[in-house]
Amino acid sequence: AIQVHNIHKSFGDLPVLKGISFQAQQGDVLSIIGASGSGKSTLLRCINHLVVPDQGEIHIGQDVLRSHAKRDGTMVSSDPKRLEKVRARLGMVFQNFNLWSHRTVLQNVIEGPIQVKKIAKAQASEYALHLLDKVGLAHKATAYPSELSGGQQQRVAIARALAMDPEVMLFDEPTSALDPEMVGEVLRVIRQLAEEGRTMILVTHEMQFAREVSNHAIFMHNGLCEEAGTPAALFDHPQSTRLQQFLQPLA
Ligand code: ATP
Ligand code: MG
Repeated sequence: AIQVHNIHKSFGDLPVLKGISFQAQQGDVLSIIGASGSGKSTLLRCINHLVVPDQGEIHIGQDVLRSHAKRDGTMVSSDPKRLEKVRARLGMVFQNFNLWSHRTVLQNVIEGPIQVKKIAKAQASEYALHLLDKVGLAHKATAYPSELSGGQQQRVAIARALAMDPEVMLFDEPTSALDPEMVGEVLRVIRQLAEEGRTMILVTHEMQFAREVSNHAIFMHNGLCEEAGTPAALFDHPQSTRLQQFLQPLA
């Protein structure tokens, strides 16, 4: 479903991604773990070109996103039409929800389908209500984000991403900004999506959850993929000393 090939990214003199490649097939759930600062968020942002990589390619079905440097060193991404098309196939869920605060829950969910996919409002609303029901929030459709708990806001953010019918869902630490009592309700929704066969890439510090829900895992260290394999292999039989050290506090 998605192929990420040889992504490099530096910020100034700081190399953050030094050649990351992986792929996920339809229905795969790929967990990305690694220490703070190892480049996990930058990698997710490179996948949808929120951050334009210095080098590398993203393949989603027949579509390819690549970037190249101009003579003056500035980066050029694929043309805007292709970028929009590829982004519409990727659903992104951020740590801090990023809902539009001056719009209701329903408006948050229908905005993308109406603006980008040109879907009629009535149809978009019907589908949005179905998705809000799925995440347990149909009764909050007319509420504003500020009237919701963090866990509820994150479930709205998931419904909003799903409304675009993305081929791949990208989650960047979706529970790390939440109070502990709200983590479970969000993980439940993500688990349900996994069980339904959604292709997902999940950056998380929830090791136990990553192990249960994913079928592939990557450990990033210093901008490289230090170890990759099944969650059982990574968590139970880590080969790299760095991964062993990373997992140590959990043992
Ligand atoms: P965390 O687990 O804390 O979220 P991470 O693995 O997601 O960490 P990134 O956010 O990708 O790490 O950051 C990797 C490195 O890149 C860090 O050193 C960070 O300071 C740097 N960095 C990230 N974004 C930028 C930016 N826009 N400009 C400059 N440096 C950046
Ligand atoms: Mg991060």
